[in-house]
Amino acid sequence: MLDVLVCPFDKESELELFEFKTRPMGNIAQSEEKKRRSESGLKSNNNRAQGSTVKPCNTVDMDNDVVIEDGMLFCNSCLRFYPIVEEIPIILPDELREKNNDLDILRKWSNLLPEKVVKRSLPWHL
Ligand SMILES: [Zn+2]
Repeated sequence: MLDVLVCPFDKESELELFEFKTRPMGNIAQSEEKKRRSESGLKSNNNRAQGSTVKPCNTVDMDNDVVIEDGMLFCNSCLRFYPIVEEIPIILPDELREKNNDLDILRKWSNLLPEKVVKRSLPWHL
């Protein structure tokens, strides 16, 4: 389902997903996840008018049946990165982003990220 996540800036580029820390979807959590997913715009490409607006929502890797606790989304077109913190993708316009927080996250996970993210991502990088 993450392959329908698009960059809010170019509105068409798919975001590349990096997973740092995941947890398995338990049976109880799973039904809860299903419920939440069905209420979220991330569920599937159901052509909602606001489809490219990502709402706060748990980040689930459907292929591996895991919930992503910490991770990163990266746009290969405009080179912006969007951290996933405590299962929530933080997708904000540049002016609302906290530079120091973002840099802390990049630093924390830099050994798990390719150089294009660590050294060249926008709106800032290490
Ligand atoms: Zn982009």
